[in-house]
Amino acid sequence: MAGNAAQALPDLAIEANGLDKTYRGGKHALRSVDLAVPRGSLFGLLGPNGAGKSTFINILAGLVLKTAGTARVWGIDIDHRPRDARAAIGVVPQELNLDAFFTPRELLEVQAGLYGVPPAERRTLEILEALRLGDKADAYARTLSGGMRRRLLVGKALVHNPPVLVLDEPTAGVDIELRQQLWEYVRELHAAGTTIVLTTHYLEEAEELCDTIAIIDEGRVIACDSTQSLIGRLDDKVLRVTLSSDRTVAANEFPGLTVEQAGPRQLVIRYQQREAQVGEILGRLNAAGLSIADLSTEEPDLEDVFLALTRGDSAEQRAAAE
Ligand code: ADP
Repeated sequence: MAGNAAQALPDLAIEANGLDKTYRGGKHALRSVDLAVPRGSLFGLLGPNGAGKSTFINILAGLVLKTAGTARVWGIDIDHRPRDARAAIGVVPQELNLDAFFTPRELLEVQAGLYGVPPAERRTLEILEALRLGDKADAYARTLSGGMRRRLLVGKALVHNPPVLVLDEPTAGVDIELRQQLWEYVRELHAAGTTIVLTTHYLEEAEELCDTIAIIDEGRVIACDSTQSLIGRLDDKVLRVTLSSDRTVAANEFPGLTVEQAGPRQLVIRYQQREAQVGEILGRLNAAGLSIADLSTEEPDLEDVFLALTRGDSAEQRAAAE
């Protein structure tokens, strides 16, 4: 990327317009995707399995051919300058595919060679040390634990020093401790200026790490917003209450709360976190003479997010049509 140093940095690390992909066999995996990833962001691409996340990433990385649309990586059009666009992005793949008979040092050297990084500019040991794999530099890959392999894949994606790093479902099968280590390193890279894109089907993961989240479903981007305002739109909570004696609650007994009688002692209360707090709700139930034996709360999950968003879309569309 040295040749680009004198040029102004792009505002957008990734920009896709009308990106469409139909696989041979007819699967329509991306449907006119418009997406802009600002430079310097820690961007979450969130969606269920099969939504089209990997297809999107693989098009950017030059691994899958798009059917229509345009895309730029670091301001570089993937059609006009495919090699330069590929050099601007590093992808950490989902699968733990590593050649078992190479050592981490050899794997990174081979990868650097593939990207044409001259030996004098290679940072093999620096990368391994940053990933806490320095002492494993000369061990066979087959002797590494799952977490070490995962980190080594991150290292492979970094050999050519790309300004954009994509982690495709990075924590599938990774235990909590390793996940935290990986996040720590991702945050360090981000702080040092790398734009990070993380694909995941865990809302929680995107919420914990990303400043911006796009939600993709069935090949369509159905939302793209700052994490804060996206979560704010999803603050429907559910409180399940078990009463210690039978009691029927009248429909309008608690104005402002939606209370559903799920059984003689079971209430399902829907509320918005913005509007009410659990303590306050319990206080109102107590004041009305209801005695509570047990309670549990439910957080919205991705499915709720989708439902809320699709409902929102159709309401907006109806409003627009009127
Ligand atoms: P995600 O990464 O969100 O799980 P993918 O991009 O992998 O989604 O897949 C999107 C859709 O495209 C899925 O229905 C998947 O089965 C299909 N698909 C992915 N890769 C191929 C392929 N090489 N050939 C045909 N269909 C594919």
